[in-house]
Order: sequence, then C-alpha cells, then structure tokens
Amino acid sequence: MTHRIRALPLFAVLLAATSFATTAADESPLDADAVARAEALRDRALAGSGAYAIVEDLTTRVGPRLAGTEADARGVEWAIAKFKELGYDKVWTEPVSFPVWERGFEAARVIRPVPQSFAIAALGGSVGTPEEGLRGEVVKFADYAALLEGTREQVEGKIVYIGNRMQRARDGSGYGTAVRARSAGASRAAALGAQAILIRSIGTAANSRTPHTGMLSYDIAFRKIPGAALSNPDADLLENMLARGEPVEIELRMGSGIRDEYTSRNVIAEVTGRDDSGKVVLIGGHLDSWDLGTGALDDGAGVAITMAAGKLIADLPRAQRPRHTVRVVAWANEEQGVYGGKAYADAHKDAVADHLLGFESDFGAGRVWRFDTRVAEAALPMMDAIGAVLAPLGIERGGNEAYGGADVGPMRALGMPVASLVQDGTTYFDYHHTANDTLDKVDAKDLDQNVAAYVTLTYLIAEHGLPPAPQ
Ligand SMILES: [Zn+2]
Repeated sequence: MTHRIRALPLFAVLLAATSFATTAADESPLDADAVARAEALRDRALAGSGAYAIVEDLTTRVGPRLAGTEADARGVEWAIAKFKELGYDKVWTEPVSFPVWERGFEAARVIRPVPQSFAIAALGGSVGTPEEGLRGEVVKFADYAALLEGTREQVEGKIVYIGNRMQRARDGSGYGTAVRARSAGASRAAALGAQAILIRSIGTAANSRTPHTGMLSYDIAFRKIPGAALSNPDADLLENMLARGEPVEIELRMGSGIRDEYTSRNVIAEVTGRDDSGKVVLIGGHLDSWDLGTGALDDGAGVAITMAAGKLIADLPRAQRPRHTVRVVAWANEEQGVYGGKAYADAHKDAVADHLLGFESDFGAGRVWRFDTRVAEAALPMMDAIGAVLAPLGIERGGNEAYGGADVGPMRALGMPVASLVQDGTTYFDYHHTANDTLDKVDAKDLDQNVAAYVTLTYLIAEHGLPPAPQ
C-alpha cells in the first residue's frame, strides 16, 4: 500500500502548501522529525497493521458481547490479554455498573387477514409481553412526528407501527432523524394507550430479512410497553396488508426484560510517553456489542483499529516514543447507554486537563475520509498541519465541530478537546445491530487505512501536546 502514498506527492505537497500558507511559512506548528516519524508510522500501518487479526480473534473467540452476559466477562478477559500480548506498558480495568437486559424469545405473527410470520427483533431495554403474548390491531404512523399528532381514539388498545425508512448517506446522517421512532416511539405510543409498538428497522438493508435492534428509552411518566423492530421486507409486507384497508391483527410474544445489576469493566491500556508527563491522548472503541451478529463492525473494528494504532507506537524504541502517553480504552456497554464513557468521566473528572485529545472509532470498518476537530482556536494551525500528513490517505480536512464518539462524549462535556476521523458509512447501516454484523464485512486494507489515520493523529498529538497546552 505504500506505493499509493508515493503516487500522490504533488497532491500532498499542494495540501501542505495550502496549510502552511495560513501560518508563518517557515514556522510549521509541527516538528519536522516528528512529521517524518508520523509518516513512517502511517506507512507501516498501511503495509499491514494487524488490526484485521485482532477483530478476527475477538469475533471468533469471544463472539457477540451483549453487556452483562457471560460473553461480556470473556470479552474483558480477552481485551486484557490482547493489550498485554501487543506490548502495552500498563493494562488495568475500571468498574462500570448497569442494569442487565435480556432478549429472551421473540415472535410476531399476523392473525388476520392471513396468517404470516414476521421477522422481528426486540428493542434493547424493552419489557416483554405477557407469557401468552398480546394481540392487537395495527395502527400505522408514517414517522415519529405523525405519532406526535396521533389521538387516543386512533391508538387505544392497538399496536402502533411506525414506518419511516432510514436514508442512506456516507456520513450516516439518515440515522439521527429516523432513530427517534425507535428511541422515543414506545412511550409516545403508551401515552395514547397502545399495547405495544413495532417499527420499521432503523437501517438501510432494504432487501434483507434481518431486523435491526438498538435501544429504546422509556419516559418514566408512561407505562412501559413492549417494542420491536420489523425487518425492512416485513415492514413492506405489513404496509401492503394495511393498504388493503382491512384490519390487520398481530400477535406478539416477547420474553425480554431487565433482570439484574451487573458490573463490567472498561479495559484501559497505556503506551507510556518518553516524558511520562501524566498527559494522555485518549483513543478507543467499545467492547460490547449487540447479540444478533458478532459485533465485527460495531464495534470490534473500532477496538481493533485503536489497539493496533497503539501497538505501532509501543513498538517504537523508548527514545523515539512521543513525549506524552497514549491511552487506549476498550469501553464497556456503550450500546445500552454509554455506561463505560460515563463511568470513565466520573472517575477522571479531576484530570480532564491531562487529556490532550480524545477520539473514538465506532462507525464500522469503512475508510476514513474526513478529519474533524473540536479544539481551541489556538490549536487549529497544528490540526491543519496534521491534516496535511493525513491527506495522502485520502482524508480531507473538515470543520471544528467534531462529535468525537459516544464514549468520549462525557469527557468532551467536561472540556476535553476531541477529534473525529470520520469513516465512510455508506453501507454501515445495512448491517448495523443485525445478525449480518459479521467479519466478512470487514476489509483488512480498509482497516489498515484507519489505523494509519489513528496512529498519525495519535502520535503527533502525543508528541506535541495541544496548544494552548497546560505546562
Ligand atoms: Zn457502536
């Protein structure tokens, strides 16, 4: 893959020139030796980062990692052992507690007009139905906004169905609007007297009979009703039945529910900087996954990308290590409410100033195409200069309103600067939270490009700090 870099010298030079033009021509915010070392790390990652082997191992030996299950505990042990095997200097864990949700059995069938079975997945956090199931007529709403206009006369005693279809986009922007049906629909339907809610899967797999799970969240003001997602083809079928104008009656049986409290662990590992300054660059991915697939894309890939990036820095001779420390976190239970990110912020809230920059990989295994930041004005020239080192990877410089990732969100809220190495998510939501989230969707070379981006940004910030750096 190195030849690709060499094939683009003019492009890189032009970008670098543009970037440096905004600062003093001979005063790059980056040290020339450090840039050379970052480029060498970047090219080493492209030549084979080892990230694919990590996600292959995780999905094969641990499998799906639903928070609070026995596989959650095995995942923690796996991450501890893997960090050690990769040569990290320090590995430890910190507790993360949360209620345990179990899926149990799930089935939906049409009683009338004609018997049919639907492929469904209970939504995370959902209560179950009575053991014998529940039956009701379906009332359709086009989207969450339409449900907000719904009346008790329309809904009382029925099963609400929300039909909005998620739009495909490289940046995944269709998710935010569509997902309200999943997250907030149940309580809205309950407020109008519904027995249960079914939604069209929040995903772009139009032709796959794999429903997409994901969290719903109940408003405590209302009764908790069961919620499940239909696969896209089953949602089409239901809509075709409803279009006939005859009542459609469904039987729903779900054994899901909250069972217990559980304490999992954030697994944290460090590559100590040569100054051992106590300052860290914080990267990572979340170790938990949903239970339907093997969590290869969400978020085995992110765990693998960041573990492999840290390993490349760990492999450097001590004298060539960056000044500051690289900290990699395999976050616990992101899926059910960012429990790992919240626990970390709680434990480290007095050390926010020691966190130079935080960013998480949690958008599958597609290539990085944009570099966003959320840093102080004074740090922008440095970030633009780093953008020029990322440019040969096909990464454009984005804006300064980066999201950073769910698990760094609580630290961002406390003032930690963040970045986003934004991945191509064109196909991500075909597989997201489904049984199709498996290793075959991961391309080793694409992962290497991600690791190249992560190691470049991580190394350069760990070496230079971030202006205005607290001294
Ligand atoms: Zn995720």
